[in-house]
Amino acid sequence: MKIGFIGLGIMGKPMAKNLIKAGHDLIVFDVIKENVDDVVVAGAKSAASSKQVAQECKLIITMLPNSPHVKTVIMGENGILEGASEETIVVDMSSIAPSASQEMEKSCAEKGVKLIDAPVSGGEPKAIDGSLSIMVGGDKAVFDEVYDILMVMGASAVHCGDIGAGNTTKLANQVIVALNIAAVSEAFMLSTKAGVDPIKVFDAIKGGLAGSTVMNAKIPMITEGNFKPGFKIDLHIKDLNNALETGHTVGAPLPLTATVLEMLQMLHADGFGQYDHSGIAKYYEKLTGTEIRK
Ligand code: NAD
Repeated sequence: MKIGFIGLGIMGKPMAKNLIKAGHDLIVFDVIKENVDDVVVAGAKSAASSKQVAQECKLIITMLPNSPHVKTVIMGENGILEGASEETIVVDMSSIAPSASQEMEKSCAEKGVKLIDAPVSGGEPKAIDGSLSIMVGGDKAVFDEVYDILMVMGASAVHCGDIGAGNTTKLANQVIVALNIAAVSEAFMLSTKAGVDPIKVFDAIKGGLAGSTVMNAKIPMITEGNFKPGFKIDLHIKDLNNALETGHTVGAPLPLTATVLEMLQMLHADGFGQYDHSGIAKYYEKLTGTEIRK
C-alpha cells in the first residue's frame, strides 16, 4: 500500500522503516533533510511538502512533536488539506493535546478528510522493534480500516473512544511515567545518601510491589549516568503542560503532575532539556550534591 509519512525523528524514522520492511511504498516528508535521507536510503520516496504527500497518498501518518506542528502540517500553507481528497485518511500518531485533535478533526471533516488520533507508548526501542502500544481515538470504522497498518508498528492498538481519546489516554500514561521516574529518583537518592548501593536496592525491590517497567528501564541508565534520549525532558514538559491544560478544562486537579512539571522546568532552565527524562534524577542530584551511581 502507498503510505505517506510526515515527521521522521527519533520515533517516526524507525516506524517508517518498519512499514517499508513490511512491503509498503512510503512517500515521506520532514523539515530536516538528514532525517529524510536516512529513510530514503531504506527505500522511501521523498516529497517536497506535506501537500505533495497528500496528493500522492490516501493514507498519511504524522509523527510530530506537539499540537502546533501537527496543525501546521495538516492545516497550514502547503499542508495536507491543500493536497487531500475526500478519500484521505490522516492517522496522527504524535502526542498532542486532545482538544487540538478535536479541533483538527472538525477542519478535516469540512473537507471530507478523516482524522484519527493514535499516539504511542514504548519509546525508541519499541518503535525500532515494532512493538509500540498504540491508543486510538476517533471513528471506529476508520480505526478498523487502518488496524493492520498500525499493527506493523505496534504490538497492540486499542480503540479508546471518540476523537481525542487516544491523546487523553496518552496523557494519563505520561503522568504515570513522569511521577514514577520522580518517585524512583527520590527513593534511590534516599538509599544512596543512607549509604546503600543502588544496584542492591534495585535487585532487592524490582520483583516486589514497587517494581515497574519504568524502574527497570531507567535505573540502569541513572546508575550509569547515561541520560542520552530516549524521551527528552522537553517533550515531557510538553506532555505535562497538555495534561494540566486538559485537567483544568475537565475539572481534574493534578497536584503531583504540577510539582513534577516544575522539577522538569528547573532542569530545562539549567540546560538539561535534551536529556532523557530519566534525568529527573539530576534534580535530586543537584539538591544533594550526590550522584546515584553504581
Ligand atoms: P523528534 O523531535 O525526534 O521528531 C519530530 C520530527 O518532526 C523531527 O524530525 C522534525 O524535524 C519533524 N517536524 C517538526 N515540524 C515539522 C513540520 N512542520 N513538517 C515536517 N516535519 C516536521 O520527536 P520524537 O521523539 O520522534 O517524538 C514525536 C512524537 O512522539 C512526540 O509527540 C512525542 O511526544 C511522541 N513520543 C515520543 C517518544 C520517544 O521516546 N521519543 C515515545 C512516545 C511518544
